[in-house]
Amino acid sequence: MEKEFLAIIIKELEFWKVVKSNGCWELKLRTDGKYSCVQIKRIKYRAHRIAAAYYLGLNYDDENEYACHKNECNNPKCWNPEHLYVGNATTNSLDALNLGRTNWNAEKTHCKNGHEFTKQNTYIGCHGERNCRICKSNWDKAYRKRKGL
Ligand SMILES: [Zn+2]
Ligand SMILES: [Zn+2]
Repeated sequence: MEKEFLAIIIKELEFWKVVKSNGCWELKLRTDGKYSCVQIKRIKYRAHRIAAAYYLGLNYDDENEYACHKNECNNPKCWNPEHLYVGNATTNSLDALNLGRTNWNAEKTHCKNGHEFTKQNTYIGCHGERNCRICKSNWDKAYRKRKGL
């Protein structure tokens, strides 16, 4: 996406901006989904993704780059770039570990179902939390079973 166009969307977002007491930015707009969105020429743009693209250099058009909310924010409607970071599918878990984003639960050695958090069995979620692959695969199986897949 062109920087000029991003700037136009940012202007629109600024117009509707509401600053919450915890520093989160939201919008004075009714949003139908989980995220804050603005609509320009009938196309909807997710506010947090636009902010990450404009301020943090996220490639908006690359589906493999994620605009993630930091733990201290964890508010999907927030688009304050200071509450966001760019994550992607290929840099994966180690970056998050190195940056200490997982400190809040780094002392845990096992998931809540008792599986050990080893390097192989751990993946980092969008909010920097550690997740257990065994549990994830069990959930996936259960989900597919429920759906009859
Ligand atoms: Zn926030
Ligand atoms: Zn587990």
